[in-house]
Amino acid sequence: MKTLIEPFKIKTVEEIPITTIGQREKLLKEAFYNPFYLKSQFITIDMLTDSGTTAMSSKQWAGLIDGDESYAGSKSYYKFEKAVKDITGFKYIIPAHQGRAAERILFTLLGGKGKIIPNNTHFDTTRGNIEYTKAEAVDFVTEIGKQADKVADFKGNMDVDALEKFIKKVGAKNIPVCMMTVTNNTGGGQPVSMQNIRETKAVLKKYGIPLFLDCCRFAENAYFIKLREKGYANKTVKQIAQEMFSYADGCTMSAKKDGLSNTGGFIGTNDRKLAEKAKELLIITEGFITYGGLARRDLEALAIGFQEVLNEDYLQYRVGQVKMFGDLLMKYGVPILVPTGGHAVYLDAKRFARHILPEQYPGHSIALEVYRVGGIRSCEIGSVMFGRKDENGKHIAPNMELVRFAVPRRVYTKSHIEYTAEAIAEVYDNRKKLKGVKIVWEPPFLRHFTAKFEYIK
Ligand SMILES: *Cc1c(COP(=O)(O)O)cnc(C)c1O
Repeated sequence: MKTLIEPFKIKTVEEIPITTIGQREKLLKEAFYNPFYLKSQFITIDMLTDSGTTAMSSKQWAGLIDGDESYAGSKSYYKFEKAVKDITGFKYIIPAHQGRAAERILFTLLGGKGKIIPNNTHFDTTRGNIEYTKAEAVDFVTEIGKQADKVADFKGNMDVDALEKFIKKVGAKNIPVCMMTVTNNTGGGQPVSMQNIRETKAVLKKYGIPLFLDCCRFAENAYFIKLREKGYANKTVKQIAQEMFSYADGCTMSAKKDGLSNTGGFIGTNDRKLAEKAKELLIITEGFITYGGLARRDLEALAIGFQEVLNEDYLQYRVGQVKMFGDLLMKYGVPILVPTGGHAVYLDAKRFARHILPEQYPGHSIALEVYRVGGIRSCEIGSVMFGRKDENGKHIAPNMELVRFAVPRRVYTKSHIEYTAEAIAEVYDNRKKLKGVKIVWEPPFLRHFTAKFEYIK
């Protein structure tokens, strides 16, 4: 059979709001032209993020009732720990309420002034948490990973040679850890190959630098390895994931992604001393070591989610739905980052809105217009999120200007995807009318969440 079906049926439905263009124009203005300020009650299709927006399975909902809310030593914690250890193999698992809490703990311990932390591409919160400690975050994704219009199997790969040159230049003692983000969210949800993980580890080993995976989407990454890398077609996704983790010394995870749940995260490590210090911080700021700021029922749902996410019928549907979305857009002629990644479709705003300069935020302008036209929320990943200014106040743009349409897991149907593609195509057909925007207020860190905008007249 050629038709790709959702490998589930629907048991509970949630109404979605339908609004008019007139209402949405007003709402955008009230939201300071920043989609993060829009209220979800006015959003028809929400593709702002795939984080914590998963539809849980009937088994997970049943698990919530069964959750053991004991403060210490909860049964649900041990189920969670077992599920995570089974996949990652790490000796110490430290739960946290979400990914950035795990990041904050890790970088509070390893970061600080003078320290430098490489990655293929740092995610916004990872970069934010590193920079908050006054350490520096640097990216080493391969050249092809920076080119939205070039097709390759593993565009999330680390440029291992560049990484090694850099280590030699700055000295290994200033690099407390090297991260690797699988899949590479900021770079288009692109996978990293097993070979690249292995080669990165080999270089780091020479210099005594530990490798940590930012493993939010480890199952999607493992599935791409199965599809695309020689020697993996006959392995299970679980075996592939286990091999990925076997090269790492630790990880941070936002379980709001491939944990198939609405909240959660953790640190995994084999380093006893690091684990002890992390647990200390955890107790001060997140909660006791057997819940880390989570309701225990959430740990129960996660334990089930970690099993469901490795189901290959699920992953085929997951990656297939994102590809179908991308294929539809390409049929409409819309420029997107190719190939489609695991969790989202990214519009290539540089080619979409050629007349808008990076410092006038073309991706943000597109995101606003797609909401105006279709009530669909997306997220700019470009100069708003990662742009900076040099000493002379000149704008330094990131490699790519993207608009991410993240697909929540198991939430939207094929017709929702078709509707979204149609709205994007309509904006593309009228792209000459898109106007640049300017920031009228911004906070010092992670400005995209709360900055306020206006259209440039
Ligand atoms: C979501 C995400 C994080 C942060 O996790 P939160 O749960 O949102 O705090 C870190 N890294 C990557 C790659 C992510 O996608």
